[in-house]
Amino acid sequence: MRHITVLGATGSIGVQTLEVIEKMEGVRAEGLSTYSKIELLEQQARKFRPKKVCVVSEPHAKELKIKLADTEVKVLSGSEGLVELAEGEKSDTVITGIVGIAGLVPTLAAVRAGKRIGLANKETLVTAGDIVMSEAKRCGAQIIPVDSEHSAIFQSLAARVNPKEYDREVSEIILTASGGPFFGHARESLLGVTKEQALKHPNWSMGAKITIDSATLMNKGLEVLEAGHLFSMPLSRVKVLVHRQSIVHSMVRFCDNAVIAQLGAPDMKLPIQYAITYPARMEMTGNELDFLSCGPLTFEEADTETFRCLSLAYQAGNIGGTMPTVLNGANEEAVSLFLNDKIEFLEIAEVVEQAMDAHKTIASPSARDILEADLWAREYVRGALHKIK
Ligand code: NDP
Ligand code: MG
Repeated sequence: MRHITVLGATGSIGVQTLEVIEKMEGVRAEGLSTYSKIELLEQQARKFRPKKVCVVSEPHAKELKIKLADTEVKVLSGSEGLVELAEGEKSDTVITGIVGIAGLVPTLAAVRAGKRIGLANKETLVTAGDIVMSEAKRCGAQIIPVDSEHSAIFQSLAARVNPKEYDREVSEIILTASGGPFFGHARESLLGVTKEQALKHPNWSMGAKITIDSATLMNKGLEVLEAGHLFSMPLSRVKVLVHRQSIVHSMVRFCDNAVIAQLGAPDMKLPIQYAITYPARMEMTGNELDFLSCGPLTFEEADTETFRCLSLAYQAGNIGGTMPTVLNGANEEAVSLFLNDKIEFLEIAEVVEQAMDAHKTIASPSARDILEADLWAREYVRGALHKIK
């Protein structure tokens, strides 16, 4: 029997994880969390009967306790409750579907408890990749990527066997990017685009924050940094190619020029399921890739002049230390301001760049330094907003 905890069970990744688990034999949902969506969490708790659930928002947790009083499900609350859920003794696998740096502390707790991590929450590695990867090694936690590009790379790397030759054999990682809804647009045509336009992703249905990140190409920037940590690759060997069809999920180029890629219809259920079943594979019904109808596969360069966030991410990653945290924190704040109609689409990149320019990097930050740098970046962006308006 496998026991799974789903952090962020009420989000896009969380809901799809439960759909995957429902179809698997010998797999049980042990713990579920939400920030405040208690109606959905109640339905999930009644259906999957986890031992524990956590509602981060305290008032919502109180309400859910009353609603679930007729069940055996224990309701935890707050950030301590989230850590308790992530460490849960009975679960062997934790799927991290929380959005943003809020996922860092519970993910680190699950890593330190030696769990298998199905990592969707990319902000964890972007902000604290050095700490998380070294703690995973120390505590014997396996990190299996759920992000589709990283799952593709993880699967493509299975083609090689000698760990001692890794650095020589693997030349580069090529992340594919759909390009988002504004691919091909010039900067001037992005003046005044609305959140409704930015939320229309051409190929994937995801949470609001990552969808906006896909439109600015910040998502690809965060994925570059995520890949650097996951696959121990210098950023000079992590490349990005725009591939509008989202069929080739990413590729690895080897020293003998062999390129190995993973292909499939765009569907997050495959990387989610693979993170649970790895190294085995399990049947998946529907959504089979049909080569005769998927149309031509195209590859183009990303326009980093218009979509500044991608180059800002490389810059932050090359500086290292707390700079990627500032990139991420400033971006989280800016995306939230954009979604609340407080700033323009193009101002997202502008305020992130301003925050990076103003930040004094700490080269080898502790977890506390990282959380402080995140708060600093958010405050900086809120301050910059007053100057803009
Ligand atoms: P969603 O916004 O759909 O879901 C986020 C989940 O996290 C919800 O359960 C939400 O609770 C919870 N949450 C939000 N804020 C907090 C907080 N402060 N503390 C604790 N929990 C919180 O996001 P996605 O599922 O789209 O994305 C989740 C992560 O996976 C992101 O890091 C994203 O980059 C990554 N990812 C997502 C993909 C996708 O297809 N969606 C693809 C690849 C990666 P509530 O419902 O109450 O708001
Ligand atoms: Mg991705």
